[in-house]
Amino acid sequence: MSEVTLENIVSLCKRRGIIYPNSEIYGGIGGFYDYGPVGVEMKNNLKRYWWKNIVDKRENVVGIDGTIITHPKVWEASGHIENFGDEVVECKKCHQRFRPEDISGVCPKCGGKEFTEPRSYNLLFETEVGVIEDAKVKAYLRGEACQTIYLDFKNVVDSTRQQIPLGIAQIGKAFRNEVTPGKLTFRSREFEQWDLQFFVHPKEMEKWFEYWKEERMKFYKELYRKPENLRFRQHPKDKLVFYAKDAYDVEYLAPWGWAENEGIHWRSDYDLTQHSKYSGKDLSYVDPTSGEKYIPWIVETSGGVDRTLLMILFDGYEEEKMENGETRTVLKIHKDIAAYRAAVFPLVSNKPEIVNKAREIFDTLADDIKVIWDSRGNIGKRYRYQDEIGTPYCITVDYETLENGTVTVRDRDSMKQVRVKTEDLEEYIS
Ligand code: ATP
Repeated sequence: MSEVTLENIVSLCKRRGIIYPNSEIYGGIGGFYDYGPVGVEMKNNLKRYWWKNIVDKRENVVGIDGTIITHPKVWEASGHIENFGDEVVECKKCHQRFRPEDISGVCPKCGGKEFTEPRSYNLLFETEVGVIEDAKVKAYLRGEACQTIYLDFKNVVDSTRQQIPLGIAQIGKAFRNEVTPGKLTFRSREFEQWDLQFFVHPKEMEKWFEYWKEERMKFYKELYRKPENLRFRQHPKDKLVFYAKDAYDVEYLAPWGWAENEGIHWRSDYDLTQHSKYSGKDLSYVDPTSGEKYIPWIVETSGGVDRTLLMILFDGYEEEKMENGETRTVLKIHKDIAAYRAAVFPLVSNKPEIVNKAREIFDTLADDIKVIWDSRGNIGKRYRYQDEIGTPYCITVDYETLENGTVTVRDRDSMKQVRVKTEDLEEYIS
């Protein structure tokens, strides 16, 4: 057993097609990353896993998919134009900029000890909408995904059979011109968030806030292998924004210490009130039964998809000594998040009966389950590769398969092998 480091994960991600630095052939661009063939499958699985838990399983939560660019007034109303900053200090020697909390008096780049006074720096990315030079409108790439949920709140209420309490969920990109992007995708400039905005009657705020706090922790405890590495961090009361009564971060113990994974926020009526004020449209809700009219309060749970995937990699990574003295690297990640549920191998690649039988099994499984094919090199090497990307099962078609219709299924975590009848395979691995 070993302690995972950030370097272990950076190297694994590059080596096995999970995450690559963006524009690498041009020297890269700080804070932007691409997902490779394995990473994109994991990320899609993770998003589906969240969607299933938050939307599919609940009668009172619906989803939307909003745009990245919105009317620029949105960001005035939300306060982001005035106040979406980080404090920045600049090293007087190498002129690199840092967030004050990322340095302890010493420049991480050059070791310099003198810095400028902190000044505020807006994280919003600007762009322009329109084609005629004089008529272009300044707009912003959204700094957080949740604003589109507030903008669509009235549309959702008017176009569905939903009543309050009602949740609106969304997964989507957000952009922040972070001062110090780093730690792989932990702090990047383009990333994805999963958001639930849960609209409630003000009298029920306390109850729903507690409910979602517990639900979100349960979600992460089931997702991660080491629940002891999860905790809540309550925001100090004197650091809360004026409309918030309470706020918690779900934190995971990353190699560099406790790190925010998701925020659970008490937003009261702030967002809908602001947008009512700036748009001139009444965003209050009328209860269809009692006729009561009010601005709903909001419990927000907002987390990072990329951050969660990164934590899952930390959580699952092991370097294990095996009985033969060799070390294997294995990703013990949740089976629903693994890029492939199973790998299918023909034991040898020069025996057509074996290869054909393996193909047949691959094709049958592929109708319902994500599987991967590998017929290259020896079985040991194939196992090592699948262990590194976290594939839960490896299925080998061999000579015995031709005799009695069974295959070997090897378990990622225990490395135990059992023989399973071909017709029972699908049930066995799912
Ligand atoms: P931090 O304090 O780490 O900057 P934050 O409190 O500003 O995060 P929120 O605005 O609450 O973050 O965003 C919700 C979630 O979005 C975070 O919990 C995190 O998982 C994710 N997130 C925020 N900023 C980034 C980023 N630069 N890169 C990747 N994920 C991010």
